[in-house]
Order: sequence, then C-alpha cells, then structure tokens
Amino acid sequence: MKILKGYVFRMYPNEKQKELINQTIGCSRFVYNYFLDDKIKEYKKKGKSKSAFDQIKLIPLLSKDKEWLKEVDSCALRTSLFNLEDAFKRFYKGSGYPRFKSKGVHESYKTNNIKNSYKGKEYNSIKLDLKNKTIILPKLKEIKIRGYRNKKVIIGDIKSAVIKKEAGRYYVSVLIEEELIKPTIIPTSIIGIDLGIKDLIVTSHNEKIENKIKINAKRLIGLQRGLSRCKSGSKNRYKMKLKIQRMYQKIRNARKHMIHNITNKLIKENDIIVTENLDVKSMQKNHYIAKGLNENPISEIIRVLKYKAVWNNKRIIQIDRYYPSSQICNICNYQNKKVKDLSIRKWECPICHTNHERDYNAAVNIMFKGLEKYMLYLKQYI
Ligand SMILES: [Zn+2]
Repeated sequence: MKILKGYVFRMYPNEKQKELINQTIGCSRFVYNYFLDDKIKEYKKKGKSKSAFDQIKLIPLLSKDKEWLKEVDSCALRTSLFNLEDAFKRFYKGSGYPRFKSKGVHESYKTNNIKNSYKGKEYNSIKLDLKNKTIILPKLKEIKIRGYRNKKVIIGDIKSAVIKKEAGRYYVSVLIEEELIKPTIIPTSIIGIDLGIKDLIVTSHNEKIENKIKINAKRLIGLQRGLSRCKSGSKNRYKMKLKIQRMYQKIRNARKHMIHNITNKLIKENDIIVTENLDVKSMQKNHYIAKGLNENPISEIIRVLKYKAVWNNKRIIQIDRYYPSSQICNICNYQNKKVKDLSIRKWECPICHTNHERDYNAAVNIMFKGLEKYMLYLKQYI
C-alpha cells in the first residue's frame, strides 16, 4: 500500500535565496490574482471560463510584459493556476467567487518534483538530503534545513514541496509517497473514548486527557493593543506583528504536538477504538478565545486517528451520535433521562445503585456499543 506523508522542515535560506523565495511567493500570488480576475470576467460574459491548462499556455505571453515572472520557478506559477481551478470548482458548487490572495496572508508557494532521465540517470527537481541536512529546490539550489534529527533517510518518492514563510521564518513541507507494509493484527483490545471540551478525552479505561493548550489571552490582547498603537509602516509595528505571529505559531505547534501524542498513544495501546460520530461544529462554541485558534481539536484528533489506524492496521469504529451514552447505566442498562442535563457530572443509578462519573460511564457504553457493531461486522464472515 502506498501512502502520502508530509515532512515539515525549517529552512535557513541565505539572503539571496530569501529574496528569491519572497519573489516567487509574490509572483505566484500575482498569477493567481491575474487569472482569477480573468476567470471572473470571462465567466460573467460567457457562463464558463478557461481551464488551468489553457491559462498555463498564456503565461509566456504574460511574461513578455512582466519580465520578472521569468526569474522564478515556473512550476510554482503553474501550480498556482491549478489551485485557482480547485477554488473555482468550489465556486461552481455554490460558494461565492474565490477571493483574491493578499500579501501577508498567503505567504507560500507549491512546486512539484519533476523527474527527468538523461543517459540512464534520473534527475529530480527536488532533492532531500537528510545526512547533510539540505534540500535542493528549483531555482534556489541548495538550502540548509533542520528537523527529523532521528531520521537518516526517508525512502520514498518526493511528490511536491510547499515553501512557506511564517512569522518571519521559512519552512518547507515535503510530500513523500512511501510504501507501507501493514502489520497483521488480530484485534484483542478495545477502548471507548468520550470526547468533550474540558477533558478532551475520557476513556473506558478511566484515563482522562486534558486539553493542555493554554492560551495566554492577556498577553495576546496586550500585544494586539500595542500593535494598534504603532504607526503603520513603522519598524515597531513590524516587530510587534512578528511577536503576535510567533505567539500564534507556538500555540498551533503545541496543539499539533498534543494531537500527535494523544493519537499515537491510543493507536499503540489499542486495536479497536470506538468514538461517537460527533457533530463537532455544534460543540465549538466560544471555548477558544483567539481568532484562528477556535478550532476544536476533537475533529482533528478523529481525522488523525483515522489515518493512523489505516497505517497501523487498527480499527476505528464510530457509533451513532444520538446513542444516549451518558444516560445509560453501564452495569444494568437502565436509562436515566435526568442525566441529559449536562451539569450533572456524577449520578447514582436508581436501579443497581452504582455510582457513576458521567464521562467514564459514557466511555464504557461507547466501548460496548462499538463492540456490538464490530461483532455484527464479523458475523457476515462466519
Ligand atoms: Zn444500574
């Protein structure tokens, strides 16, 4: 089985390389916006517009007028037009016109690995060398990188790279197709997990995993205020902006880390993982203050769990979100409708007098419901 994996490295370009990266980002944005404008105008007139392939043929013509387009990686410009096509497909499906890209928001470009063979030797436009900690990218040549210290080599086919500028730093995310040999596993363990907000996860083994991401809202608000006091275009304003961006970046990274740790542990320790099929949007509410960070990690946890399960031959079973997992006593099956009230964290079963902790009891029920589903699934093979 082939899988696609992304590896993110910090890049240390020299001044000249920085300049070229910035220029490529700018050119990709320019091409995107130029042809978006073209597409909208054409669509308004004819009800349809040129495909990415047809637009690509027009780049040389545009470059005659805008010489600087010739200086950058041409693959990045082409990729930008395929991105535009994807955005326009969403427009056909009913969302509004795609937005124009603005500076300071979309600071990245993508380039594909182009393979050539010459006299029996194979050449790649992107080359990763973990031993010497360098990456070769079109037009930029060799750039120093850092990351994945424990890996000496990644065996696989490089598909593409996204070069990104974030909070004044440079990163490259390399997409690699790898051959995956799945381990054979006969499931012997199962876990139910109840997903919440304060305790992100409570398991049927009665483990509680908190959401450890703390956002220092006071500092963030202070910085935002500081920013609004700085004169536009001033050096201080730039510095302040960078500080805010770094803070966001830190939180995002901590979040990613937390999600990987949680999912790695769950996948490693259990063969079958049962969760509810949650409507995450309705759960979001106002729990995460800062804008852009208000995504609830739960949907991300489930997404990551799903692909890691495929990689490791483990199973994720999702049960109906309307199954009243918190109301049912996991000992005697009595359904206590009073527990619907979310403020009830502990309750005693009126029938068997077991004392329940709300989320733990729910997790156990989720586990049993998942087991039931799994047995039904097995039955078709018996
Ligand atoms: Zn009971």
